[in-house]
Amino acid sequence: MTNILPQLEELEIWFITGSQHLYGEVALAQVADHSNQVAAALDADPQIPVKVVFKPILTRPEEVRQVMLEANASSNCIGLVAWMHTFSPAKMWINGLKVLQKPLLHLHTQFNAALPWSTIDMDFMNLNQSAHGGREFGFMCSRLRLARKVVVGHWEDAAVRQQIGVWSRAAAAKHDLQTARFARIGDNMREVAVTEGDKVAAQETFGFSVNGYGLGDVTQFMETVSYSDIDRLCIEYDEAYVMADVLTHGGARRQSLRDAARIELGLRAFLESEGFVGYTDTFENLHDIKQLPGIASQRLMADGYGFGAEGDWKAAAMVRAAKVMAAGLPGGTSFMEDYTYHLTPNGGQVLGSHMLEICPTIAAGRPSCEIHALGIGGKEDPVRLVFDTPEGPAVNATVVDLGNRFRMVLNEVDVVRPPEPLGKLPVARALWEAKPDLKTAAAAWIYAGGSHHPVFSQALTTEHFEDFAEMTGVELVVIDAETRLRDLKNQLLLGDLRKE
Ligand code: MN
Repeated sequence: MTNILPQLEELEIWFITGSQHLYGEVALAQVADHSNQVAAALDADPQIPVKVVFKPILTRPEEVRQVMLEANASSNCIGLVAWMHTFSPAKMWINGLKVLQKPLLHLHTQFNAALPWSTIDMDFMNLNQSAHGGREFGFMCSRLRLARKVVVGHWEDAAVRQQIGVWSRAAAAKHDLQTARFARIGDNMREVAVTEGDKVAAQETFGFSVNGYGLGDVTQFMETVSYSDIDRLCIEYDEAYVMADVLTHGGARRQSLRDAARIELGLRAFLESEGFVGYTDTFENLHDIKQLPGIASQRLMADGYGFGAEGDWKAAAMVRAAKVMAAGLPGGTSFMEDYTYHLTPNGGQVLGSHMLEICPTIAAGRPSCEIHALGIGGKEDPVRLVFDTPEGPAVNATVVDLGNRFRMVLNEVDVVRPPEPLGKLPVARALWEAKPDLKTAAAAWIYAGGSHHPVFSQALTTEHFEDFAEMTGVELVVIDAETRLRDLKNQLLLGDLRKE
């Protein structure tokens, strides 16, 4: 297996500080010293997975514009953190902010946490002006309708650093999508609506490109896989998973495992040949592929590839974005489908799964490798990994194309243990309780037009997606413990009025 996620520690957020010349050189040297200390402390904090790079303090309009242009052009800079240590008249920020194309976080902090009550004098007051300096900067960002995240609190506060870390993960995902390419193998499951959409608008909004490929483009890579590579991969399966007896060496269906290994190796070679970071397939377009890719898609997802079933390229992109955001965090991230309900008078539970393609990063324990019939597609029985998902909080998030814009819909859920073992269920699954309750959550999701193909994550929180939606300019509908349907309908109406 080869992880294809970006190395977050190689990416940079630039720490910029606003001030002005009125205070004199001594004060400005102190501002620079403080700013250096804050940037270094943030850089050293493991909650912030990227580099934090100090930039010289900004006191003139041309300096502001210059650093913004450099940020735009830098291939490692994923965003800017701006701090107004002192008062920085905001007209000097207009031309710089107008050209900025990278995400912006406004850190509203102050070098000193506590006021020195008995010794405070005007020198202290003049050096610690964030309280009003930040408001001047905030006005200009709002006046320019600039999307940004505002984080308030002392820079040594763990909660503040956590917020910056979350934002930097969202910025890393946005950065990744600017060059991300997705292969749509075999187009869409016929007549399905929500998996369609405007790929040109998606590239304009998110940065990624999606292009279609025929099955022959992929099967040519499968045909040239060597027997020794298949042998090696089958041994890797044997060692990694609890193998069904029939799939073991000498077992009656070992050949099906070898076919699955050929599919994985060929698909992987196809994706590597053009540097794709994700793909879609569909069971209606399998032609010369013997099985619907099951274990192949599961393992490719675990390596960081985005995946969407039935041609769902928006799901593939969301899985990829979520995996970049979650890089290095505990908990897994997978393509998912709301499959079936456990309905009770008070609400109930959702059993999430798919025909095959659930990522083993969300497995509780060692997955078992099994082979079972697949009711649709008319191909040979596919090999797949089967497992349960650990209990705990998770989110489901999806993006839909409303015709004039994209909307992201997110539901906070709690994964729970099934009351009984699901001994006959031949697919990987997660059982969850939706917030605030199933009736409200499902109605809200349906009113919002959310798809049945969310990305599911136990590594990420609503805040990651909120930051990602903000910086990509996409409407976000959150369904959480506070959701009331009447308010949510008004929010949807506002979204319709606001855009175009
Ligand atoms: Mn599906």
